[in-house]
Amino acid sequence: MSLVITPWFGKVRIEDYMEAGGYRGAKKALSMAPEEVIEEVKKSNLRGRGGAGFPTGLKWSFVPRDSSRPKYLCINADEGEPGTFKDKYILRDAPHLLIEGAIIASWAVGINTAFVYIRGEYGKIALILEKAIEEAYARGFLGKDIFGTGFSLDLFVHRGAGAYVCGEETALIESLEGKRGQPRIRPPFPATYGLYGCPTVVNNVETLANLPAIMEKGGEWFASLGVEKSGGTKLFAVSGHVKKPGLYELPMGASLKSLIYDYAGGIRENRRLKGVIPGGSSSPILKPEEIEVALDYDSMMKAGTMLGSGAVIVLDETACMAKVLQVITRFYAHESCGQCTPCRQGTSWMAKIAHRIISGRGREGDLDLLKDIARSMMGKTICPLADAAAMPVIAICEKYREELEEHIREKKCPVERE
Ligand code: SF4
Repeated sequence: MSLVITPWFGKVRIEDYMEAGGYRGAKKALSMAPEEVIEEVKKSNLRGRGGAGFPTGLKWSFVPRDSSRPKYLCINADEGEPGTFKDKYILRDAPHLLIEGAIIASWAVGINTAFVYIRGEYGKIALILEKAIEEAYARGFLGKDIFGTGFSLDLFVHRGAGAYVCGEETALIESLEGKRGQPRIRPPFPATYGLYGCPTVVNNVETLANLPAIMEKGGEWFASLGVEKSGGTKLFAVSGHVKKPGLYELPMGASLKSLIYDYAGGIRENRRLKGVIPGGSSSPILKPEEIEVALDYDSMMKAGTMLGSGAVIVLDETACMAKVLQVITRFYAHESCGQCTPCRQGTSWMAKIAHRIISGRGREGDLDLLKDIARSMMGKTICPLADAAAMPVIAICEKYREELEEHIREKKCPVERE
């Protein structure tokens, strides 16, 4: 099986990274015309790895080529979705892979200034990245006249303050500008009006980390690793009740069941599987009979859920679904920025209802009320956080209705009583 990202892990120093062939992809990209680089990325079927899955080459092509204003690259390293820890590994164990990817993306789009917006909690990892950036400057891979081509790129690290909503691209831009991290109304989109009102590309860490291999081995090779509309491999962060939690790289289209049982060792203590949250806390949960699904954007959507960031949270039979509901609703209520009434009120009310269920004060009709509130939030706000909060609630209330009703009726957890 061809792997794209994990073979680079451990090559933290620039000497080790270069000995393994590092920076060859960037050198090749800079020997090509920027339009050719964009075409190669389009051919690769690379889709954004931050969660939305938007085609990367297409996103770049929205940025005006002949803008009189500067253009910026914002690298989204704000990894805040519960369950997600894939970008952390790239930043910590292969920081030059990201730097090389940033050089390629910047060349393709005509960018001379890039920022890595890294979540505040990744303090030590930010230091590792800064050291790698220093190494790249010392070798002439960043700064002026990179590889003697006349192309210049400066790369800065900016630490966030730990707000989940700053993973949304316009909130990230606001935060980078020094303002409160709140999403902007779109349009205009960042491609034409982003950082400081200038054309901006926002790409996820994992997305950029794929670029060196695409440049070196070709877009068609990368596309052939995955499925029809989604090329390459994907990093999956598996956590929860499995024997071997951790980070796994599999081709796009691999089986979710195989990831859990063949790679992550199956369910701990050989208990029964109860459910899988397949793409971070915002993705609708799957029941055990639904996990024979392919791990790619379109197959997951057809299955009624999302690939999201690839954070797979596995729950065994000991998991209390009222508790899961409480944890998820409390998280989104805490992280809502409060600009939109349906999100501010909806997340707050969902958290209150989930809390009263877990506290033994649940009322008949609470599950329908939760679903009604969740539905009333969807599609009515300026950023996807409200939908992200609503979708898992609807799925849990529908798929685990019996257990939750028993929890409300008996005023205690049926799982703990067993
Ligand atoms: Fe803020 Fe929620 Fe509106 Fe997003 S949906 S802008 S998080 S209030």
